[in-house]
Amino acid sequence: MEALLRRQFAGTPPGVAYCFKKEGGWPASVWQLDGAAELYFGFVSFPSVSDAPAWLSDGAGAADPAKALEALEAACDCAEPWGPNAEARDSWFWTPYSLCAGKWTLQRPSAALAGDAAHLLSPVGGFGMNVGVGDAASLGWRLAAILNGWLAPDAAFSGYEAERREAWARCNDYVVSERARLMSSGSRDAGGRGGAYETALLGACVDGRARVGLRLPSLPGALLEARGVTLVVVGDDLAAAVEPAFRAACDRIGIPCRACSVDGAEAAVAAAFGDHRLAICRPDAVVTHLSAASLPDGVADGGSSVAAEALLLSRRP
Ligand SMILES: Cc1cc2nc3c(=O)[nH]c(=O)nc-3n(C[C@H](O)[C@H](O)[C@H](O)COP(=O)(O)OP(=O)(O)OC[C@H]3O[C@@H](n4cnc5c(N)ncnc54)[C@H](O)[C@@H]3O)c2cc1C
Repeated sequence: MEALLRRQFAGTPPGVAYCFKKEGGWPASVWQLDGAAELYFGFVSFPSVSDAPAWLSDGAGAADPAKALEALEAACDCAEPWGPNAEARDSWFWTPYSLCAGKWTLQRPSAALAGDAAHLLSPVGGFGMNVGVGDAASLGWRLAAILNGWLAPDAAFSGYEAERREAWARCNDYVVSERARLMSSGSRDAGGRGGAYETALLGACVDGRARVGLRLPSLPGALLEARGVTLVVVGDDLAAAVEPAFRAACDRIGIPCRACSVDGAEAAVAAAFGDHRLAICRPDAVVTHLSAASLPDGVADGGSSVAAEALLLSRRP
């Protein structure tokens, strides 16, 4: 495999990844193997081929343990050398792609791209698989909605591409700027993590505020229905007023539902809802509706497909 990769990227290695086995717990990521041995995994990244050491750009010696360690330690700016217990396991070239497909869905026959087939990111930050899993979560409930007859395929797929493209773009913007920062500082410290990292992964809702189109922040008393829709209401009085129409609509559609009331005196609830008191979440916890007191139009008096679209498809302000 390594020989194949080296041929593919011959002369233009923008980066190389090494896999290590090492005792102890620092530094780098840990991958468990058989519950016993630990695999360590590291990247060495160069701005251009001329910045890479000659033995690497020549395509020779990338798997040499001593050279691999030397390069990784230099790139990690390690305060502590990795020492003799480290053993190089594997190495391969990769390209820090920043690509997104022009079109992700076909309506007839219904088909959708997800994961690396739809988008590619540089490994910096470890977003690639996460964004793919997010695609799968967003696609999963849409496919269930089609199979269960809640939504027509056109409606079920609407919004998928725009929503997931936006998620990829958030991560890509972070990766591009973080990679530039790492390149210019020459270090792999964790300075770019924290708020910006989490915001790239999850969107602005990491500040604790509920937003249409993003996951509902975790709230005390809010238990979401993963197979259907959830009504979250601040205060028992409003819950009593809107819950019957919500449940009746879900019965008409045939979709599992849950209603829960949360306490507005809780700080997390107050921060999440602000002036709003009512939220509806689809099966993957994304908020589709936020309001001061009312259900979306079409829920109380619409037919089942109108009500399903009103509950499951988000309409951003
Ligand atoms: C060096 C490196 C480090 C990374 N580190 C991280 C990380 O730390 N965190 C993170 O979240 N992501 C990371 N990623 C990204 C992550 O690996 C990918 O985003 C993820 O594996 C994509 O999953 P996928 O299922 O969409 O595609 P793939 O993993 O590419 O799976 C597609 C599968 O389809 C198979 N296939 C292709 N064509 C056919 C066919 N015609 N018929 C049948 N099967 C076929 C392929 O063999 C493959 O098994 C990293 C990527 C790289 C390169």
